[in-house]
Amino acid sequence: MPESSNISLPLLQDDAAGRRPLVGLTLDELSAIVAGLGEPAFRARQINEWLYARRAPSFEAMTSLGRNLRATLEQRTTLRTLALADAQRSEDGTIKFLFRTHDGLNIESVLIPSEARDDQDEPKRQTICVSTQVGCPLDCKFCATASMRLKRNLTAGEIVEQFLQVERYAGEKITNIVYMGMGEPMLNYEQVFRSVAIFTEPANELVAARHITVSTSGIPSAIRQMADEGQKVKLAVSLHALTNGMRSELMPINRRYDLGELMDAVEYYYRKTRQPVTYEYILFDGWNDTDADIKRLAKITRRVPSKVNVIPFHEIEFTDPTGISATLRSTPREKFDLFIRKAREAGVMVMVRSSSGEDIDAACGQLAVKHDATSLTGR
Ligand code: SAH
Repeated sequence: MPESSNISLPLLQDDAAGRRPLVGLTLDELSAIVAGLGEPAFRARQINEWLYARRAPSFEAMTSLGRNLRATLEQRTTLRTLALADAQRSEDGTIKFLFRTHDGLNIESVLIPSEARDDQDEPKRQTICVSTQVGCPLDCKFCATASMRLKRNLTAGEIVEQFLQVERYAGEKITNIVYMGMGEPMLNYEQVFRSVAIFTEPANELVAARHITVSTSGIPSAIRQMADEGQKVKLAVSLHALTNGMRSELMPINRRYDLGELMDAVEYYYRKTRQPVTYEYILFDGWNDTDADIKRLAKITRRVPSKVNVIPFHEIEFTDPTGISATLRSTPREKFDLFIRKAREAGVMVMVRSSSGEDIDAACGQLAVKHDATSLTGR
């Protein structure tokens, strides 16, 4: 995968009406805008606070700014570049959101409520799964997003906006963020970590780094960069297969960066950050769920302190399944449970990831925008 795909793609600047999106800007950048408008410097801090900590839904709501400034901002800048086009609620409470970008593309976000508590004193968890690209260039054989190919990278603002709009819709504080929606976050590194910086800026009162997970198919240089920069978010790596032959068949990215290179980067990351790593492992019936796989899993996960999220394969609709995509099936329940038990006996720290929102195609790997929804449903 060309690392340069990061920069060669056009990124959203001003919208069609020439207005500058404010969400996604840092205090420094807001200060420059405020100075350009000939306003006193303290206005930048106020705007910053309205944008993030106070989650202002409109310029109108930014009452401390004064009527004139509000009108100028309304004219020259914009608060929302994503239009909420659809919201579907699953039987399990998961909500899938469809957003239309200002240039007419579709992306999805998922809100996953959970009764589980991290600690005693933490409130109910509300996790948002955000998209980082429109589509994805990686072509993983089990993932629906792959069928969209890559249209473009999302901006930090578009990533932060998913959070702000979903939180407003839900009417409840979002406590956790997973970068596990459409796209490969590490191929949009700059915008992804710019959004992380905004989410984790204490004054913005959004989400703490320890409640954010960035998931990657495994781009070694980006994993090393995270370590070098001392990024505090959690790292999740999509493993799914434990030999190069199998992994390359499933995830073509492995032909470019094989398991050896990937695991060296993971080890580097751990040595520098001392943060444990999470691996994601989808179970495919008869394919990667054998006793030999458990042995390999135990060996590979011993390299650094880690846990493994075992994920049931969410079968997806392929318009034209060929090759391995046509043969992948999810491991039946009993065999799945047996795999978990044996992996635990082999010393692997295993967690089972439930399949939230499968009935509305909101589960992992099911995000692919094929419809042109314009109405708001659910709720
Ligand atoms: N590109 C990133 C993040 C997006 S995918 C990555 O690869 O990690 C988020 C997780 O969902 C990944 O672990 C991915 O492998 C998994 N996933 C994709 N398709 C799936 C499917 N059909 N069933 C279950 N999990 C899937």
